[in-house]
Order: sequence, then C-alpha cells, then structure tokens
Amino acid sequence: MPKAFFIDTTRCTACRGCQVACKEWHELPANKTLQHGSHQNPPDLNANNYKLVRFSEFRDSEGTVRWNFFADQCRHCLEPPCKLAADNYVEGAVVHDEATGAVYYTELTKKLSKEAFEEMRTDCPYNIPRRNEVTGLVSKCDMCIDRVRNDMVPMCVKTCCSGTMNFGERADMLRLAKERLAEVRKEFPEARLGDVDDVAVIYLMAFPPERYAENAVAMAPAPLNRQQLLARLASPLRAATRG
Ligand code: SF4
Ligand code: SF4
Repeated sequence: MPKAFFIDTTRCTACRGCQVACKEWHELPANKTLQHGSHQNPPDLNANNYKLVRFSEFRDSEGTVRWNFFADQCRHCLEPPCKLAADNYVEGAVVHDEATGAVYYTELTKKLSKEAFEEMRTDCPYNIPRRNEVTGLVSKCDMCIDRVRNDMVPMCVKTCCSGTMNFGERADMLRLAKERLAEVRKEFPEARLGDVDDVAVIYLMAFPPERYAENAVAMAPAPLNRQQLLARLASPLRAATRG
C-alpha cells in the first residue's frame, strides 16, 4: 500500500529535531553555520540537508506578528517530474518504488551531467534535488526507505514529538489531514492542504502557502527556451527511443 506523510504545520514548534534526526540517520556531515539574520539554518536545502525547517515571519491582516514554520522536504510526487527528466539520461538514477511510493536517488546519479541535474532541479515543482559538487551525487529525502521497508516510520516522524510529522497508509493520512483541516479552519478560514492529489507529502497550512516558503505548493516549471528545448530533444535516450 502506498505511504504518505501528513505534515501539520500548525503544530510545529521549530525545534528542528526532524532536521537533525534526518542528518543522523543518513550519516550526513555537518554544515558550517553562520548567522544570516534568520533562525533558518542552513539557509537552504543542500547535499547534506535533505530536510530543512523554513522560518517565515509576517504580520497577518489584523497586524499580529506570526511566525510560520515549514519542515521542507521532497514531496514524493505520485508522478515524479525529476524521474522523467533523469530517465532521459541515466535509467536507474531515480527510482519510484511501487510498494511504498517513495522516490529515491541512487549512486547512478553520479553519472548525470551538470546539465542533466539542472534539468531535474528545474522540473521539480518544489526545487528539491541537490548535487554534491565534489562527488556528483544528487540527493534528497528518500522517505527513509530502509526503515519503511522494515515497518518503521521515517526518522523525522519518529523524532517529532509535537504531532506535526505523521506517516502511514495514504488513505489514513488523507483522513487525518481532512479532519485536522476542518478543525483548523474554525480559527483560520484560509487553511488548506497543499497539492493533495499530486504528492505523498501532504502539508496543512493555516495561511496562504506564500506565507511559508517560496515552493510550499507546486510552482509551474519555467517555460523552456529554444536552446533548452533543442537540448532535450537531442538527449541520448529520447533520441534512441525515437529511432
Ligand atoms: Fe517541527 Fe516536529 Fe520538525 Fe520539531 S521535529 S521542527 S516540531 S516538524
Ligand atoms: Fe522529485 Fe521534486 Fe517530486 Fe521530490 S518533490 S519526487 S525531487 S519532483
């Protein structure tokens, strides 16, 4: 049965336990940290951070200062555009696991050219894939597939004690998301679920998505220019299949 996350941002305290737990489980090295004028640290996802708690401060319509937290990660798209892009260059670099719905990257991503990686990243509606400039490995959240295949929840979910991070059968997560949405809307009428029909990571947001992060919901990929279009048509596997 396909799995899903339900991420209830209204419960998040920004403790960043999920961010650290993800790094620990995947044995990712630390990043050098600097104060950038925000508690969001590191400033963006990178090859050593598959998960990032984004911070967004604003005034609501009544002048109250709000601080929104958004535990950003790969959405495990039901039809992943990053896989479509990568398959044009190196088959097997991106895997969509039928049993769980997890989208994960393999060592074969090292064979992707920089241009192929840029295509994957541009095609991702949430700007998720990152590349290690030294090894060439492209990486992101893998749903902790090793844990999930052994009937354990992903580490971020295991760590979160606020009820923000939830994981289970997709039908159960959808039910939970809809229940919480109805509850939250009593106080925040603009509350919504993000891209619920397209992804396996369902966010509940009390405010409009732009109050959380630039890519909280899907951004349409930028239209291709002539040069990019020609490059895609000439990519090796497309050419082979056309023949
Ligand atoms: Fe928010 Fe839970 Fe992550 Fe803490 S562990 S930052 S409460 S999602
Ligand atoms: Fe791929 Fe981006 Fe979808 Fe994750 S969110 S599966 S990286 S397209």
